[in-house]
Order: sequence, then C-alpha cells, then structure tokens
Amino acid sequence: MSVLDAHLDMRDRLLAAGLLYPTGVDGVYARSEAYERIAAALDATVRRWGAGLGATLLHLPPLLPRTTFDGTDYVRAFPDLMGSVHVFEGSDREHAELVRRVERDEDWSGLLGPAELVLAPALCHFIYPMCSGQVPDGGVLYEAIGSCFRHEPSADPTRLQTFRLHEVVYVGEPARALEHRDRSLTAGVALLEQLGLSISVVPANDPFFGRLGAALAAEQHEEGLKYEGVAPVVPGARPTALLSSNYHRDHFGVPFGIRTADGQTAHSACIGFGTDRIVLALLAEHGLDPERWPSEVGMELFG
Ligand SMILES: [Zn+2]
Repeated sequence: MSVLDAHLDMRDRLLAAGLLYPTGVDGVYARSEAYERIAAALDATVRRWGAGLGATLLHLPPLLPRTTFDGTDYVRAFPDLMGSVHVFEGSDREHAELVRRVERDEDWSGLLGPAELVLAPALCHFIYPMCSGQVPDGGVLYEAIGSCFRHEPSADPTRLQTFRLHEVVYVGEPARALEHRDRSLTAGVALLEQLGLSISVVPANDPFFGRLGAALAAEQHEEGLKYEGVAPVVPGARPTALLSSNYHRDHFGVPFGIRTADGQTAHSACIGFGTDRIVLALLAEHGLDPERWPSEVGMELFG
C-alpha cells in the first residue's frame, strides 16, 4: 500500500466509525462526542501535571493579534503555513461588486483587507507579550489550551489544518528554560506511555521554508533546540509527532522585551501536546471503539 493509500485508508476508517465527519476540505473535520470525550480527558490528564508544576492555565482564542504575530518572526520560517484574517470594510459600491462576483463565481477575495488578526499558529505566542517587562524571580509558567491553524491540506488524518494544542510554557532564566524543555519532555513521554502509547524521542525536523529556512533548520538541528515524541499512528506511514519540546533561547525574549529578575533577556521553552494527534494515536493503538479499550487505559484517562 502506498503512503497516500495508507492515509486514505485510515481516514476512511475514522469516518466510517463516525469519529470524524467530512467538511469537504482535507484536514478539517467535525468530531464526534466519543472523540471529544477522549480529547477532554486528555486535556484533564495534562492539566493535572501542569497544575502540579504550578502553571497558570489560560484558554486561548484561535485568533492572534497581528502585532504579536509580527513579533514572533513566524513568516521567516513558515510563510507557507500561515493564515491571515481578511475582512470587508468597503463602501456600498464595493459591496455591490462583492455580491456580483460571488454570484458569478468569480474571485472576490481582492475586495477584502487585512484585519488586526491572524490565525494562531501556536499557543505560546499569546504568552510572550503578556510577559513584556520584568518577570518575577524564578520566571513564570503558563499552561495554554486552544486551537491552532497551519495550512497544510493533506489526506493524512493526523495532519489537520485546524487542531488543538495543549502547551506548558516557561519564560525566565536561561538555565531554567532549558531545564523545562528537558524535564517536560521526559514527563510528557511518560504521560503518553501510561496511556499505552510507545513513544520515541527524536530531534525535531520542522518544515522550514525555502532558502532562508534552510539556515534555521540547520541551526535547530545542530544546536539540538527541539525534540519530538513520535509514535506510529497510520500503519505503513512515517511515525507522527504527538508532542514537541522546544527551547527558544531569547527568540521571544528580545522582540517582546522580556527581562529576568536580574535584568538579563529572558529565555523561553515550551512543550506542546498535539491533542488531536494523541486522540488519533490512542484510537489507532487501542481500537476505534473507546468503550472497548484496555481497562487500565480507560482508568488512566476517564478515571
Ligand atoms: Zn510553543
């Protein structure tokens, strides 16, 4: 079976089981109640860990202020994955033209202009402007739940365009940021293994764009900044990254003007659990009917 057929087969099985419902666009699905129960239980499981660390939990909107987005320099690395919100602010005449184009099936997007928002590509980006100025001694720890967007339509049901993340983000002293990256990776892998998944840790291989991106990819690799926990989800396809743990150094501390208690530029690190990917991994591992999952997995997740 080709990789494409393997992806299509897995997606067909999820649709046939009534776990996902199609919308007509690859990578965008409606989700069943059974699917959402797993996602909610997973969020609660990660939250128990985050609360134990003393993280402040934030539920984040799917839209990120454009000014914040510009500060993150995301366009340098992943211009092909971003999404921007555009809105209509025209006159009566332009409105008539808009309606005319829609009626004739013509492209009408040129009549829109950029809103003050983009689609959030990651959750920790919301946190950095909140930390501008001086963070308390020891730094700050936030936990973030929300939806992200990345434009990469695919038949692979684990490669969604809109998907939930659950991040735990540290901002503060460099040594502590590095420690957060490593400790949370170990804890995250243990958490997923308790749910019956077998996770391998590998250096991340982010799809940086083009010639500018090649340098960023080399740097990420050589300096060992980011690691992923991967597991086989789609039989016959490459393992899927279920979580990633990333040390950003001062990449966000500089543009957002964040300083530690002793006046250095703050460093940051985040772990991100790919909630939807983990739900799909659990379904692939334990079967498409959660009622029939091994009791120890059910106990761990649903109590
Ligand atoms: Zn992050």
